[in-house]
Amino acid sequence: VTGTSGWLAVLAVAAAAVVMVAHLVRRGSFTTFLPAQVSLDDATEVRYRQLATNLPHGAVIAVDRDLRLVLVAGPSLVAAGSDLLAMEGHPLSDALDPRVTAEFETACRAALTGESADFDSVEMVPGSVFRTRVSPMLDSDGAVVGALIVAEDVTAERAVRDELATAKAFGDAVLSASPDITTIIDLGTGEASWESRSMGVPLGGTTGRGSAGRMPALQELVLPEDIELVLEANARIATLADGESITVRYRARALDGTYRWISRRTTPFTRTADGAVVQGVSSVRDVTDIVAAEEELRHHSLHDPLTGLANRVLLLDRVTSALDRAERAETRTVVLFCDLDGFKRINDSDGHAAGDAVLVEVAHRLQGVLRLGDSIARVGGDEFVILLDPTTTSEVTALPHGRTDSETLAKLISERIRAALDVPIVHEGRSYVVSVSIGVTVADRGSTAESVLRDADTAMYRAKLLGRNRVEIFDADLRARALERSGVENALRLALDTGRPTSSLTVAYQPVHDLATGRLVGFEALARLLDEDGVSVSPDAFIPVAEDTGLISALGARVLDEALGCLVRWRAAHTDETPATMAVNLSARQAQRPTLSDEVRAALGKYGLAASDLVLELTESVLLESASSTLRQLTELHDAGVSISIDDFGTGYASLRYLTTLPVNSVKVDRSFTAGMVTDRASASIVRAVAALAADLDLACIVEGIETIEQLVALPSGVQGQGFLLGRPHADPAGGWLPAPVAAVA
Ligand code: C2E
Ligand code: MG
Ligand code: MG
Repeated sequence: VTGTSGWLAVLAVAAAAVVMVAHLVRRGSFTTFLPAQVSLDDATEVRYRQLATNLPHGAVIAVDRDLRLVLVAGPSLVAAGSDLLAMEGHPLSDALDPRVTAEFETACRAALTGESADFDSVEMVPGSVFRTRVSPMLDSDGAVVGALIVAEDVTAERAVRDELATAKAFGDAVLSASPDITTIIDLGTGEASWESRSMGVPLGGTTGRGSAGRMPALQELVLPEDIELVLEANARIATLADGESITVRYRARALDGTYRWISRRTTPFTRTADGAVVQGVSSVRDVTDIVAAEEELRHHSLHDPLTGLANRVLLLDRVTSALDRAERAETRTVVLFCDLDGFKRINDSDGHAAGDAVLVEVAHRLQGVLRLGDSIARVGGDEFVILLDPTTTSEVTALPHGRTDSETLAKLISERIRAALDVPIVHEGRSYVVSVSIGVTVADRGSTAESVLRDADTAMYRAKLLGRNRVEIFDADLRARALERSGVENALRLALDTGRPTSSLTVAYQPVHDLATGRLVGFEALARLLDEDGVSVSPDAFIPVAEDTGLISALGARVLDEALGCLVRWRAAHTDETPATMAVNLSARQAQRPTLSDEVRAALGKYGLAASDLVLELTESVLLESASSTLRQLTELHDAGVSISIDDFGTGYASLRYLTTLPVNSVKVDRSFTAGMVTDRASASIVRAVAALAADLDLACIVEGIETIEQLVALPSGVQGQGFLLGRPHADPAGGWLPAPVAAVA
């Protein structure tokens, strides 16, 4: 129902009514009663009533000058339950509800004075709205003889109109509340033909809300680099099904001339009869801040916050692209792995602030050494990796391409690095001289970023081993060793990953004797590993690999479990002997485990053993370098009764004075002293001094590596001994060794 046609209907009815009244008056029927009362003749009445019937949602009411109802007709009134005929002849105020009377009375009186009135009647039929016209009823002379009310029920029309208004208000509210701007894009021109409002970026329109201002062309608006992108997206809109959308991000010029990042999501809006998309509707949003935040995040995730250098992730990415480029250009990628020497000491003695300052300065100096095209990353605490661009040949132009070329370049840059670090770094009045160990790798064809970094790391490790502050190049020898390492790692994984004990990883037990009495006092559990070919691998080779790979935890747990199980079995079979203890080695990383003491206690509990049945062997360096949490755990275990033994004593810091401050029960003199004891007086006196000191501090002293009778005889009294002479490590603690000669010699 549209407003116009509704009103036309009302007016037509009203006009018809007037014509009819005029007709009545001409016939003289009205005049008879005038001015007191108007009555309608039969024919007129019939036609009136028919008129009302023709107004299916209407009503026709006529009143005379005394506002007496002359005619009341209309299906709407009948439907509403009114007895129309009963009303006729009664004054308006009597026949109708007072509220209806109130609505009509004024208009009727106005009509008697010749005025027409239009209003909505809401009282005539409760719950319905009637568009009502009250007009004068004239006789043939033009005299007003009454008032004619023609009303039409427009309830449904009004409901639709209200709904539309609400929907529009809602739409407007949504459009203005949304951070997005809604625009309509004409696919023909590629430009916006309507936009809900302006946001400082003229999106095609100028001021928003369908403004008809000049639409700047896409080319004027979008950053030239992004135009192609937008056009491509526009072209794709035409192919979209309803409900599908395309989002494009581009930079558009704002009113202030700066470029803003815009995200535009477009769905099809109007189509031609054959389904081709003509217009798209877009949500457009200024995402400049989001883009900036994303960029910030990206930077964070790819850079080291302390030095601002690239991190490992970004480095791997760069090395990968460098390898690709090198492959194409037939050059070779060169990577320098730099690890500062003795950096930990700066951190430990002067605090992290000093350490950080040194790192920042080192980063700065290393950057100064780079040539155009080279890049640098910080990949660990004091580890920096430099990626050299082999195509930047300015430094080595005289050399032909090839391996020597790359190595020469690497050496040249390494020398510059060392020179750059020669100048002391001063922080808060203190000056620090840092040297660096550098591992170089020149990548082969088919290398991956990971393998290149690993090789450079391996070369750096050799530089450390060979005395630090030097450059080592990854070569065939290192490659062979790296291969061996990975073989060891595989063997370890195979032995440990299966979850059940495998024959490739076992434990051997070496006895420890009290040399004064010859009594067996304990065993040391030593891990044994067979590689994939069944060849035995030395613990000195596989323990570091286990440490590096984190497999040491599983390995340690396995050795502890088997050793304690073995001790229980041995005791069951040797009830007549003094109960022996079981010593298990702990490496640095094992000792650092926060769950160490819980795990040890659980293992003891599992076999029903006392804490005093177990000895934990740690090297001096592990003990001295351990964090306070490790020391606390060791102290906890020590206090519970577990013995702590310092292994390989004399090879580390040899800081005897620390002995009193640590939770220690015994020291094991390193076998290098034992070996030298007979021939070299210094070794002999060291062994004697340690034994004396241990006795003084009430610690047990175990001498390792006793291989000959001469060594045994040369030992000071009161020590315990371990070595091939007394018993080799053996899978079965009850066999493979003979305690007898000990007692004999002692
Ligand atoms: P360690 O704790 O000092 O163990 C003693 C080493 O000396 C053992 O070497 C043993 O076989 C060897 N040895 C014993 N008597 C003699 C002798 O008379 N002459 C000579 N030349 N050597 C003798 P092994 O088994 O090769 O172990 C080497 C190191 O590996 C151990 O030194 C220990 O630090 C480590 N290790 C062994 N098993 C484990 C383990 O289960 N966990 C950890 N964390 N480390 C282990
Ligand atoms: Mg040991
Ligand atoms: Mg040892």
